[in-house]
Formats: sequence, structure tokens, C-alpha cells
Amino acid sequence: MLPFLRADLAQLTAYTPHPEATAAPPPDLDRLDTNECPVDLPADLKQKLAWTYETLIEANRYPDGGHDLLKSAIAEYVNESVPVTAAFTPAHISVGNGSDELIRSLLIATCVGGQGAVLVANPTFSMYGILAQTLGIPVISVGRRETDWQMDLDAAQAAIAQESTPPIRVVFVVHPNSPTANTLTQAEQEWLQSLPSDILVVVDEAYFEFSQTTLAAQVHQRPNWVILRTFSKAFRLAAHRVGYAIAQPQLAAVLDKVRLPYNLPAFSQVAAQTALEHREALFEIIPTLLSERDLLLDALAQMPALQVWPSMANFIYLRTRPTIHTETLWQTLKAVGTSVRCTGGGIRLTVGTPAENQRTLARLQDILAQPPFQQ
Ligand SMILES: *Cc1c(COP(=O)(O)O)cnc(C)c1O
Repeated sequence: MLPFLRADLAQLTAYTPHPEATAAPPPDLDRLDTNECPVDLPADLKQKLAWTYETLIEANRYPDGGHDLLKSAIAEYVNESVPVTAAFTPAHISVGNGSDELIRSLLIATCVGGQGAVLVANPTFSMYGILAQTLGIPVISVGRRETDWQMDLDAAQAAIAQESTPPIRVVFVVHPNSPTANTLTQAEQEWLQSLPSDILVVVDEAYFEFSQTTLAAQVHQRPNWVILRTFSKAFRLAAHRVGYAIAQPQLAAVLDKVRLPYNLPAFSQVAAQTALEHREALFEIIPTLLSERDLLLDALAQMPALQVWPSMANFIYLRTRPTIHTETLWQTLKAVGTSVRCTGGGIRLTVGTPAENQRTLARLQDILAQPPFQQ
């Protein structure tokens, strides 16, 4: 260990979205492990972006550090999903280099320097815990009940009542949750609403375009709530790293205060604006993905080796029956051409193209009919 580094960093490993399987994956791997949209931008949009780069973007100049055009376009888009009386302005929006940057900015603004701890309910998105640890922020975890993956609200309430040092300053939830694909229940929403105003509630709506359910309107009544969204999933821009927060202007301004001044490259800003302009065309694939998800769910539910849960997103969470080793199944599946995510004691499977989904089902059926899975 380098003697000038913080000792607590020795415990950390760098985030890898694709942890190494023991067998080398085939080159034409079906990548169903990171919940992206399975198809690229349409060719005409890519051409438009290439033209923009050639003619409008000055590579020698810094990008717009205030993201003004993009924030206006985002506010307009967000307003389509809230009542007119709950409309947002660009001042309610802060844009990040992926929602990952916004998560980190929120942690910097609330907990850094021994000021606070965060609460998560596992299994959930791992980035909250990882980013907190890199900043030396304690992470308090509670569980979820396995019938419907609702968080253990008694344990969560007890953790908050315990008044730890430092106190819990942030609660992270995903709506719908990753990897378990369930939306927040009424009881969970009521519990979040009951939290005192000195605890920040972060509702991550990365999969909003699939679930079509949002708590954004709550932000108007609750200065301690922030909604996170991303361009990495339904908008097909994972390569460009754009996410945004919806919060009261006071909090949105703080997010801008703690971030890097030019956090979003000019090309990414233009890509996000272009995707917003063409959202109707981009979202045409969503009904197909949702019906593919339901077909996958039906087929997986027929496999006695697996247990599946309903999904409100573009991915499916499953667990194997106790006789079956989840990691072995995951590695075997990868070795024959489907990469999925092994997480939270189960497997998270992204809904792919119809062809990818058929191959996945055929591979699973094949694998589960043979040793060591079928004795
Ligand atoms: C995919 C995902 C994101 C997106 O993160 P970006 O940094 O915007 O790519 C955020 N939250 C959750 C829960 C996700 O699954």
C-alpha cells in the first residue's frame, strides 16, 4: 500500500460492471448484464450528431458549464409526467456526468467529513455504497422481504431511531429497484414521507420510462427529496454519461456548487438534447421491450429450477432453487454466450432484442437439463 493513501481505501476494489467469469466469453456475447437498451441510436440520429460535431461544436472551447439549453429541454420533458400545477423550471434541474456523478455530489453535499451516514436496503444499486465508501462515509444496510422485495421498514426505522454517530443523513431508494425490479409500495412511500426534514430522500428513477411511475411531483412539497433520472437506459445514451436530478432550486443549486465546473462534454450535452427532441422515435421500442419482458417472465416461471418476481422495468430478477449454485449457473451461461449480472444473491437479466431473449431462454433450458444442474 502506498503510505500516503487513506488506509480505508485498501478495503475497496474498483467497480467492474463485468466481473470476470472463469471461462473466456465468446466474441458474439449477448450483453444482458447492464440494463441498457439493446439497440443503438437510429442511423439518422447518429448522422445528425456527427454533423453537429463537425459543424457546430468548437473542440477548442470549453462546453457550456451551466447546461442551460439542456436543462430547459429536460424540464419540459419532466413536465409531461407531472400535473400542470407541479410544473418544473430549469432551476429545478441539475445535470451530471451520469447519475453516478449526482449521487456523488449529493454525498459530498450531505455526509462528507464525518457529517453523515447513508441508509440503503439491500439488494439494491451498488453504486450508493461504493461511492459513499470512497468518500469515507459509513453505509448502514437493512434487508428486504423476499416475497415482494419491500424494504424492511422496521429495521430502517430502528436504524434511524438509533441516532448513530454520524447520524443517517441520506436514504437511497430506487423506483423501481435494481436488481429486484419492484416499485416502491404505498407503505414504503409513506415511510419515506415520514422522515424528518434533516434526512435527504433520494429516489432514483433510472427506469422511469419503463415503469411510467414517478414521485417527481413530491419534490414541490418536500425540500428534502430529490429524484434522479438518466439518459443511459431508455434514451440509449449510456456511452455519453448524462443524468439529471429534479429538486427544489435551493438543492439543485448546491449540486451545481459541488460538481466539477465542466462536468459534461459538449458532445454529450448535444446528444442528450437530440435524444430529447427525438424521444418519440426512441421510445417506440419500449412496448416491444415490455412485451418481451413478459414473455421472458412467463418462460422463466416455467423452469422449476428458477424463482422469478414481477418486473416494472427492462430487466428481470431471478433466483435459483437451493440445490443450484447461482454463480455456477451465471458462469456457465456466460460461457455459452449470454452475459447476465450475478448480484444480491440472484441473477439480474436485462431484456434484450427478441433474438437475444430467445437465445437466452434456449441456453438456460439447455444448461438446466444437464449436470451439474440436473442430477
Ligand atoms: C443504470 C442505473 C443508473 C444510471 O447511472 P448513470 O450513471 O446515469 O449511467 C442509475 N441508477 C440506477 C439504479 C441504475 O440502475
